[in-house]
Amino acid sequence: MCGIVGYVGSQQPNGRPLEVVLGGLRRLEYRGYDSAGVALTGTGDGKLAVTKKAGKLVNLIEALDLDPLPASTAAIGHTRWATHGGPTDVNAHPHVVGKVAVIHNGIVENFVALKAELLAAGTTFTSETDTEVVAHLLARAYDVHGDLTAALTAVVQRLQGTFTLLAVHADVPDVVVGARHDSPLVVGLGDGENFLGSDVSAFIAQTKDALELDQDQVVTITPTSVVVTDFAGGPAQGRRYTVDWDAAAAEKGGFRSFMDKEIHDQPKAVADTLLGRTDLAGHLVLDDLRIDESVLRSIDKIIVIACGTAAYAGHVAKYAIEHWCRIPVEVELAHEFRYRDPVVNEKTLVVAISQSGETMDTLMAVRHAREQGAKVLAIVNTHGSTIPRESDAVLYTHAGPEIAVASTKAFLAQITAAYLLGLYLAQLRGNKFPDEISAILDELRLMPAKIQLVLDRAGRVREIARWMADTTSVLFLGRHVGFPVAMEGALKLKELAYIHAEGFAAGELKHGPIALIEPGQPVFVIVPSPRGRDSLHSKVVSNIQEIRARGARTLVIAEDGDEAVRPFADEVFYVPQSPVLLAPLLTVVPLQLFACELATARGLDVDQPRNLAKSVTVE
Ligand code: GLU
Repeated sequence: MCGIVGYVGSQQPNGRPLEVVLGGLRRLEYRGYDSAGVALTGTGDGKLAVTKKAGKLVNLIEALDLDPLPASTAAIGHTRWATHGGPTDVNAHPHVVGKVAVIHNGIVENFVALKAELLAAGTTFTSETDTEVVAHLLARAYDVHGDLTAALTAVVQRLQGTFTLLAVHADVPDVVVGARHDSPLVVGLGDGENFLGSDVSAFIAQTKDALELDQDQVVTITPTSVVVTDFAGGPAQGRRYTVDWDAAAAEKGGFRSFMDKEIHDQPKAVADTLLGRTDLAGHLVLDDLRIDESVLRSIDKIIVIACGTAAYAGHVAKYAIEHWCRIPVEVELAHEFRYRDPVVNEKTLVVAISQSGETMDTLMAVRHAREQGAKVLAIVNTHGSTIPRESDAVLYTHAGPEIAVASTKAFLAQITAAYLLGLYLAQLRGNKFPDEISAILDELRLMPAKIQLVLDRAGRVREIARWMADTTSVLFLGRHVGFPVAMEGALKLKELAYIHAEGFAAGELKHGPIALIEPGQPVFVIVPSPRGRDSLHSKVVSNIQEIRARGARTLVIAEDGDEAVRPFADEVFYVPQSPVLLAPLLTVVPLQLFACELATARGLDVDQPRNLAKSVTVE
């Protein structure tokens, strides 16, 4: 969690370092908003200039308006998602000791032992954070080495846990140093200026030239140089790449929230994720799939590991891949997978899904799976992130930057990527004839326009959401692929509106949850297509009748033309017809709109819900 920005520019003090860092923090604020702070060097008086404030970035900006900081040559800035110590001014980063200022993303797990050692040596602590030990150690190490890079290299060797650290020293105003161990850090390459950030959105307004760092590297930036070393101080290299989206993609573009914008980005996110995946003969080609085809032919089990919304994308993947490829697929929360004793071997394909590519629980599960001999394929949205680099293969989603903390377009892109993976495996293993695969791909290519249709019909669901602003509980029911959609609908409402919401498999209702139904209880029901197999549709229609008989208020999501649901629905939200397995791309959209609108009507900040942060980079 937490957003980190570093900047170093010209030798002459000016306002740009602060401006760049505040701009970066604004775009990174989705990563944490317990506090924000900046430290400047090169202000001309040989001192650091520091301001930090508890709460959202706006509090810092107000403080800077009242009491402006001087011009400078370099700056670092931080938005915090507190792990150790409450969200107070004192615990806010940067942490300053003497002439050193440090910002940190992650957890220093051995900070208790290090703190005891420092306390015994007479050090006084001012904050409750784990980070402050790093500031003390770095100040001491600088006194020994007289060089900021050497000092940071010495300090990181003493730290356990996960960290990205940035530091400045008042005596070297044209230097910012950084180090990473299991937390994200990228370098932005400018002309006479260089940047550091938790992700490229930190500096996307200034440069698209980026340098991806490896784990356990230290980087030193000056206005004209970028030097990468390893934790032993030896030479190392990053990998240069160009960011393929621009600053406008990280702005709201006229919508009242990032979430609203990202919901409306979904047709494009799905279309872009589908783009360029077939050769001239129409065969699926997945470029970054570095796993040997013979290995993919021999796998006998797939385990999807993910957390939160990405795990629900994994559930949809299970239904599709099992149906198309006849391979058993398990879906497991990454943090549960990691700490039990999963049965995994070289015949297992592990599919790790993460928007940021930095989700720590998922990363740890990826490492565990590979240690057991499994091949790991990552479905990730963010280039240059850790999970793809540590996996055997990657299938990138092309959703563009997702800034709102609650995931929407990344979810749809993840489901789309999972469909592509399923169809690719079916092609490779001969489970489906080429024309069958082409037919499904053709249907998939129609989905962006259908998602747009659902968005065009948003008015009614928004209206209902506003009426229901005071609701205290909403239930969600679905079967088959509608089940993960129900779970996702409930999660969105919990995340955004802070009200009780639960998703159930509709068939499970009579085994317990039906006891929750009392007169007036709102229940969303995701109804499968009546054109689907078996009697799934009629079973769900029966479930609607069962809850209605007990007084529930039924809010039904059904396919265009499904008149059978009307008599039992207080409200029907129709979505265009689609093949059953592809329907989640449509049926989840009204639920996203509902949660977003209801939370907005309650006066809540949908982009930055309380207690949450995007990119969960701690375990
Ligand atoms: N562990 C540090 C703290 O609680 C850093 C947390 C973060 O990544 O924002 O202050």
